[in-house]
Amino acid sequence: MSKAGNEFDAIIVGARVAGSAAAIHLGGQGRRVLLIDKASFPSETISTHIVSGGGVLALKRLGALDLLDKAGAYRFMHMRMQFDQHDMTGVPRDETRNPVLGLCLGRYRMDQVMLDCARSIESVSVLEQTRVLDLLVEDGQVVGITAVTGSEEPHEFLMKGARLSSRLFSVGNLLNTYRDPATDGALLLGDSGLHVDPLFGQGHSFALLSAEILGGVAREWFSSGNGKAIKTGLLSEFTRRRDALLMPHYYATVATSRAPAIDPMLLAGVHAGATEQWAADEIVTNAQFMTPPGKFPTFRLARLVGSLMKQPAAAT
Ligand SMILES: Cc1cc2nc3c(=O)[nH]c(=O)nc-3n(C[C@H](O)[C@H](O)[C@H](O)COP(=O)(O)OP(=O)(O)OC[C@H]3O[C@@H](n4cnc5c(N)ncnc54)[C@H](O)[C@@H]3O)c2cc1C
Repeated sequence: MSKAGNEFDAIIVGARVAGSAAAIHLGGQGRRVLLIDKASFPSETISTHIVSGGGVLALKRLGALDLLDKAGAYRFMHMRMQFDQHDMTGVPRDETRNPVLGLCLGRYRMDQVMLDCARSIESVSVLEQTRVLDLLVEDGQVVGITAVTGSEEPHEFLMKGARLSSRLFSVGNLLNTYRDPATDGALLLGDSGLHVDPLFGQGHSFALLSAEILGGVAREWFSSGNGKAIKTGLLSEFTRRRDALLMPHYYATVATSRAPAIDPMLLAGVHAGATEQWAADEIVTNAQFMTPPGKFPTFRLARLVGSLMKQPAAAT
């Protein structure tokens, strides 16, 4: 397993979407990464198996999209939303207005391709069938983990300090969970940091975009860490960027998944998309994480939705 002994810059627990993507980002920067999963890959997991446009663009930037295409991924262009009598079909578009195709390969194969991609990086070591049992704590900071592989004796792996966050904001009866993801030396990525009801099929994109944000800020952390635990102040930049990008989607999912009836604004939005193709494309583009924060809805979409909300309900 080990390409770099028992001491690492980062230990990542979980080697599926978030974990493998994070390992590729950090390994690409030359960081010594240990990527651990209790599963043996290829491995099935429950999913609807789609990656929407924003996640696909993140896969492209990561360098994994071609590998997934070569592995036989099915690509799709349209997203359809149907609420009450309104039925809209939109195409997600990038900033140059080109369609961005969604991806479906199935987690059994997708997770394997992502893991192989991480494993191919010289500084990334992978341990499958290895369960993390505990954190090793010294002077209030986690300095590593204890893990066990099969029937072997538990083994210690060391890194440069971490402490898991326990501050939890539970926001509903359904599976929507926000966790403050950063404390000294540790981060919660993917579902462990921000978990949404699978209603809109966003989890893979959340995980991939979180890993990308990690990759973007990691250079500064490691260069200023000087071999010691990376402090919360530095890590909080991750939280700021993650929340700016993902929290509007998180709140929209929370509102929709908990609502006893469809929100009138959402209904009017789908009505707008059923009325005008540009509106459908705009809504779908935003739903798939491709609208920059603060740019949705545009003035013309807000005006259209507002006018439709004022109309009397259609007779049934
Ligand atoms: C029914 C359903 C349908 C979904 N459909 C979609 C969809 O179509 N599109 C979409 O984008 N999202 C979908 N999601 C959400 C998506 O599956 C998750 O958001 C995504 O898997 C999160 O990735 P992750 O890497 O954070 O976690 P996971 O994929 O859960 O991976 C975590 C890994 O950590 C490992 N692990 C955990 N604890 C330990 C330990 N102690 N030691 C070692 N390893 C450990 C596990 O074995 C696992 O492999 C769906 C979810 C559900 C439940």
